[in-house]
Amino acid sequence: MFRPAGFKGKKALVIGAGRSGLAAARLLAKKGFRALLSDSAPMRALKPRLRDLPASVEAEAGGHSDKILECGFAVKSPGLPARAPVFKKLKAAGIPVFSEIEVALAFSKAGKVLAVTGTNGKTTTTELLGLLMKAAAKRRGARAFVCGNLGVPAALMAPKAGPKDALVMELSSYQLEDSTALSPDAACVLNITPDHLDHHGSLSSYVAAKAKVFSGQRAGAACVFNYEDAVCRRLARRCPSRVLFFSSRRRGGGLSAWAEDGRLAFRTGAAAFTVAPPRLPGRHNLENAMCAGLMALSCGARPADLRAVFAAFRGVEHRIETARVLRGVTYINDSKATNVDSTATALRALAGKKNIWLILGGLDKGVPYAPLRPLIKSSVKKMLTIGKAAPLIEKQLRGAAPAERAGTLERALKNAAAAAEHGDIVLLSPACASFDQFRDFEHRGAEFKRLAGRLK
Ligand code: ADP
Repeated sequence: MFRPAGFKGKKALVIGAGRSGLAAARLLAKKGFRALLSDSAPMRALKPRLRDLPASVEAEAGGHSDKILECGFAVKSPGLPARAPVFKKLKAAGIPVFSEIEVALAFSKAGKVLAVTGTNGKTTTTELLGLLMKAAAKRRGARAFVCGNLGVPAALMAPKAGPKDALVMELSSYQLEDSTALSPDAACVLNITPDHLDHHGSLSSYVAAKAKVFSGQRAGAACVFNYEDAVCRRLARRCPSRVLFFSSRRRGGGLSAWAEDGRLAFRTGAAAFTVAPPRLPGRHNLENAMCAGLMALSCGARPADLRAVFAAFRGVEHRIETARVLRGVTYINDSKATNVDSTATALRALAGKKNIWLILGGLDKGVPYAPLRPLIKSSVKKMLTIGKAAPLIEKQLRGAAPAERAGTLERALKNAAAAAEHGDIVLLSPACASFDQFRDFEHRGAEFKRLAGRLK
């Protein structure tokens, strides 16, 4: 655990000048530390980000000099591989390394900390949970803050939260991997399927990272798990806090939430009630809503908060988002589907007829596409492949549906639009990372929407 008092007068090292590294450096400077912000990217790439840094933060680019050894402790940005030489060097020098999340939490007085993780659905669940906790806080004249992997650094938000306030965090496996002694009041593991194995090396170390969300919890805290996910169910046995299960496939029993006749049923200690789910497509969104609902209920939200927030929630951008309806053809942006599993989720959510023009491809993540085969067979009219992974996807999915090498998003959209008929869906749900052709998935989704908007 990071205890700032133990490092008084020492210089802080922040490795990585991304969003969370910059926020950590600023926070440490504000708390009286001198900091060295060190990044391997060249200065010309970093410069725009380094503007307006406090005077007590020194930046170095193009690699990590021996100045790092003058620091008393280090903060690691998520996503940097733990096996990178710089971390070996720090270890050899006996310099402790903390995650940005731990540093942020050390300066937070939040009365309640809620942490969301899982392979898919984190951001949707975190956003929904944030709204629920805001509604609950408002009644008491308090506030709720949302941060973490969804793009708002914890180091920026966590220190704002006071003893009456709630802090809602989305935690990726990268952020969890680097953290020790997390002890959220409410946690969850939404689901676990293979992802980021290139980074974690194996499924078991990916799962071990996810388990850190609950392994340090107090007995009185709560952790929500998906009963239908075998890995989640197995993990729940090792959970030291109160286990709350939800299921979108069965009812009652030992469950704390389930889906029933188009409504969501909740049964926790004091409360048993049903509520209309958010109006979003797919079973997965019922799961996200049950998970957020249970976490919020365990931290002071009431059934009325769930009712009001679920009724108003319209989903998150780039997640099965209807971009446009033109001459009876619906254009759906699911750019956030950066892995095979979330593309499968979208196909399941939209299944009904064989009416989908599916745009697939980008940067391959080394996970087989074959699990998509039955879903594509039953609901896809044509696959349009883009980006580097196109040949691999065509090979692995040969025969599931006709395939066309479109190459770029623009061509894929144009060709699909030209051939689609009334009642069809043109879906960007690429099952791949975006970095071969786009800055990130947001950029890819924004391009899809811009191009769909221009169709005549
Ligand atoms: P994350 O932040 O974990 O990437 P998001 O909320 O951004 O999750 O959703 C990303 C994609 O994952 C969605 O477009 C959807 O296809 C899929 N997804 C969302 N929720 C779930 C879920 N509960 N189970 C499986 N897939 C999901």
